Amino acid sequence: MRIGVAEFSHETCTFCPDPTTIALLEPHVKRGQAMLDKVRGIPTYVNGFMKVAESAGAELFPVISVGMAPGGFTSWFETECFDKYAEEIAQGLKQSLPLDGVLLALHGAMAVSNVPKPEAELVRRVRTAVGDIPIMVTLDLHANEDHELTDAADAVFILKTYPHVDSEEIGMTAAHCMVETIRGNFRPAQALKKPGIMSASIYQASAYHPMKLVYDRCRQWEERDEVYCVSVAPGFAYADVPDVGMSVIAVTNGDKALAEEIVQDVSDLAWSLREALSAPLPDPKEAVSLARQHIARGECPVVLADGSDRTGDSTHVLKELLAQGATNWAIPGIADPKAAHFLAENHKVGDTVTLSVGGWASEHSGQPTEVSGTIEFIGKPSFTLVGPMGKGSKIQDGLVVRLNLGDNRQLVVSERMRGANDSAPLTAVGVDVPSLDIVILKDRVHHRAFWDSVAPVDIRVDSPGIGVADLTKLHFDNVPQDIYPIGKKWRT
Ligand SMILES: [Zn+2]
Repeated sequence: MRIGVAEFSHETCTFCPDPTTIALLEPHVKRGQAMLDKVRGIPTYVNGFMKVAESAGAELFPVISVGMAPGGFTSWFETECFDKYAEEIAQGLKQSLPLDGVLLALHGAMAVSNVPKPEAELVRRVRTAVGDIPIMVTLDLHANEDHELTDAADAVFILKTYPHVDSEEIGMTAAHCMVETIRGNFRPAQALKKPGIMSASIYQASAYHPMKLVYDRCRQWEERDEVYCVSVAPGFAYADVPDVGMSVIAVTNGDKALAEEIVQDVSDLAWSLREALSAPLPDPKEAVSLARQHIARGECPVVLADGSDRTGDSTHVLKELLAQGATNWAIPGIADPKAAHFLAENHKVGDTVTLSVGGWASEHSGQPTEVSGTIEFIGKPSFTLVGPMGKGSKIQDGLVVRLNLGDNRQLVVSERMRGANDSAPLTAVGVDVPSLDIVILKDRVHHRAFWDSVAPVDIRVDSPGIGVADLTKLHFDNVPQDIYPIGKKWRT
């Protein structure tokens, strides 16, 4: 059994300032065997493909893995960038023929200039190259897709968890389906439905209301023998694309009518829950005040999920922490390459400095903010992730400088966008995590895989920003007019 494999995965934030280019992605591309070696033993889609292939005695033919460049979100793909890699995938698979099937690890929220639905377009190009063999696709939970993808691919499988801790499992689900289809034991019949809902990522945690109800319903449907997999992607709202918003996909063994019934049912349920997917959240002032109330009651540490910052330099929450006199907090990264390099080149650990940080990347970032403190760390730390997401992955950081502003107020100035989905990025720069009352994360939900076990309170903050929770604050050109809550129909 010969199965072609490629990965082309990108979550494109079309509100970000810088385009996605070949120059940006190419240094991180892996081709051929290197694409498998890179993720062997790490819980990823492709490792899931490998596990199933091994046990089924199938041979994988890896072409290329193209993903996001580290260091923050980027905007629209240049058309030539998409074309280059899509062509390389199609041609690479063609050269591997004869193949019995193709597994594609995609994301679903790629946005490409002049290519309205890039994942569907990629699968069509692959189809042209390889002919009539099964093509199956895995997607991130933040996928924006419609029927064009399910028309082009034989079966589509989407992550079931946010935080995403099931990438390998979904890779295995897709690969099992592929193997059984090639053996003639399975005949994929799928359906897709879009309920017409957009939501900010910060509302989409799979273990919490309202998405938990939706995912529970999917799992109930999966108990039926003929039902192989029921997927819901709530979607990625920060890509201004025509197929934006939630998608429900069901894959059954040969029963198209049942697949249609399932996606209608799950879609109706999601629609009934739409208001909870856009309920107002506290602004930075209210959020810091709320955090201090929790701390006063001994409920700490508190996580402030500053989810709107997609460039890493936003200062809205920092300013409130300073203004309200909060203590014992850590910000794992304010992205400011100029400030980080200035500090590293002109100072040493132990120096006391005053400088302005952040607030430079976009009009939404807030103002540069003056801070004074003592430098306690300068360097490019390397560390190993310890949380459930990417556990064991080795990370090589860019340049970071940690300032202690006094009263255990720890501010890391980083060369590029820097988060802490677990404690490793903080301990790597010498922060004493147990001493913290507030951890400020430029993240929405992924951090909860780790931090929910440490922090009793998680406050979602709606700061001004490119990734604002209140989607009515962004200007969209390409989304459907009837999509809730921002389509023209709902904006009376
Ligand atoms: Zn995602």
